[in-house]
Amino acid sequence: CITNGSTAGNTLTVATEPTFPPFEFQSASGELQGFDIDLMNAITQSAGFKVKYQNMPFAGMIPALQAQTVDAAVAAMTITAERAKTISFSRPYFKSGLAIVTRTDNQNITNFDNLKNKTIGVQIGTTGAQKAKSIPGSEIRTFDDSPLTLQALINGNVDAVLNDQVVILYGIKSGNLKGLKVVSSLLTEEFYGIPTPKGSPNLQAINQGIETVLKNGIYAKIYQKWFGI
Ligand code: GLN
Repeated sequence: CITNGSTAGNTLTVATEPTFPPFEFQSASGELQGFDIDLMNAITQSAGFKVKYQNMPFAGMIPALQAQTVDAAVAAMTITAERAKTISFSRPYFKSGLAIVTRTDNQNITNFDNLKNKTIGVQIGTTGAQKAKSIPGSEIRTFDDSPLTLQALINGNVDAVLNDQVVILYGIKSGNLKGLKVVSSLLTEEFYGIPTPKGSPNLQAINQGIETVLKNGIYAKIYQKWFGI
């Protein structure tokens, strides 16, 4: 394919925000790891790119893509119509959705309606932050990253947090989060995609890379590594 041929050997600069386990986080020695990192490594390898990661705040990614200071991002980023006005997403690679998180001792928040007039913690620029705006009478506290929202919840500074369900479940299961529980079912159905600048010459190769790793079993292996039982 012409696109693959013309991009082979290029280095793709990929933004990420490594505070979102199990999708992207850092080992004790600072090494990037996670589902998204393994997947992006496999996709770029299959598409013939080299890859260089660049850490930045989640809220800085869309501006960086628009300014074309990065070629792509991998950050558990939900495909939304609003975002797609300014950047171009790959095909979806992961099904996700928002959930409510509270402290295990909280008995009075059992569904979305119970969030009225409560203090809600969210990560700035996320779909959770967007969803929180629709809650009547709520006080919204924004934080730079997901761990800060959860710390505020543990400390009692907010009543609930809206975050991607799978990230919370992983945090609880891995023992990284203590005293927290996921409330109710998914509030939204969301799909993660790899964002690129509008008109990116690399998007087709990235999509082909996703298709290849889905078909050849590599996606399943990576999924099993991070989410398998
Ligand atoms: N999936 C959410 C979003 O796209 C959160 C992503 C994140 O915090 N890395 O807004």
